[in-house]
Amino acid sequence: MEGAERFDVMIPRDTIATRVAEMGAQITRDYADRELVLVGVLKGAVMFMADLARHIDLALRMDFLGLSSYGDATQSSGVVRITQDLSHPVGGKDVLVVEDIVDTGLTLRFLIDTLESRQPRSVKVATLLHKPANTVQQVPLDYVGFTVEDRFVVGYGLDFEQRYRNLPYVGVLRPKP
Ligand code: 5GP
Repeated sequence: MEGAERFDVMIPRDTIATRVAEMGAQITRDYADRELVLVGVLKGAVMFMADLARHIDLALRMDFLGLSSYGDATQSSGVVRITQDLSHPVGGKDVLVVEDIVDTGLTLRFLIDTLESRQPRSVKVATLLHKPANTVQQVPLDYVGFTVEDRFVVGYGLDFEQRYRNLPYVGVLRPKP
């Protein structure tokens, strides 16, 4: 990429595509005859959500939530605020939260508590990546793409200072020589 940092590939695009297709097939089986609403967390989950949704063979709905955390941008504080709410109510629906990465679990805990207060039929979670090393809040993860080691990852929706979301793979920033 022109004028950019250098990255090492951690999860190549083909590996992501294969795994996302498997997850979509599993979700199709699990949600047959249900009123599935995918709730994507902006902006990191956009790529994953778009690909996952195309592998779910159901008449699902898609909606998005914007969240922002207070405090240090690199350290999750768990104090989260909704910056953009869902466009339709989820009461009585089967909600599947679609996340890019679960690190401490604090963001997801807030999100699940918020959604559950709106009385959906169910709330489950699909995350592309899980970094178990930093768990603070144990949140049940129903669908996990890849479990990764504790490195700062970018690409396929994930950013470094708002850039590199468009990398087609998940990578790690290469240390400068
Ligand atoms: P948690 O509340 O689970 O600690 O944080 C989840 C959020 O932190 C993710 O949705 C993501 O925005 C950010 N995050 C955590 N780890 C990484 C990472 O390795 N790379 C990037 N780009 N964002 C991360």
